[in-house]
Amino acid sequence: MELRKAACEGGPVFDRARQAVLNVFYNVDLIKVTVGDGISPPELTAIVEEAHREHLKVADHAIDTASIQTAIEVGADSIEHGNKVTDEQLKQMRDKGIVLDSDAHLVWQLFHEEH
Ligand SMILES: [Zn+2]
Repeated sequence: MELRKAACEGGPVFDRARQAVLNVFYNVDLIKVTVGDGISPPELTAIVEEAHREHLKVADHAIDTASIQTAIEVGADSIEHGNKVTDEQLKQMRDKGIVLDSDAHLVWQLFHEEH
């Protein structure tokens, strides 16, 4: 209970995100969030901070280039799908140790689109 109270002292903007992580961290190995699905970048940052405090990884579902950039900037541990990832973003991810967990759609794009 003290942990929950302390974690929410960052201000009301972050309470919802921090509380969401605290509500589940006892029973999970990973937090997956969808970037751009009504969760603001400050809330995503709060989720990442809270998850990392609990030694959990954060996987960000991000398809388009803007969402992928947000995921990189908030400190996600992995980017799921990443369909529209750019070469520059791949370099940023490499430098920050962020994993790209792509799917068949991205592989299909690599072989069917000009680069
Ligand atoms: Zn996903």
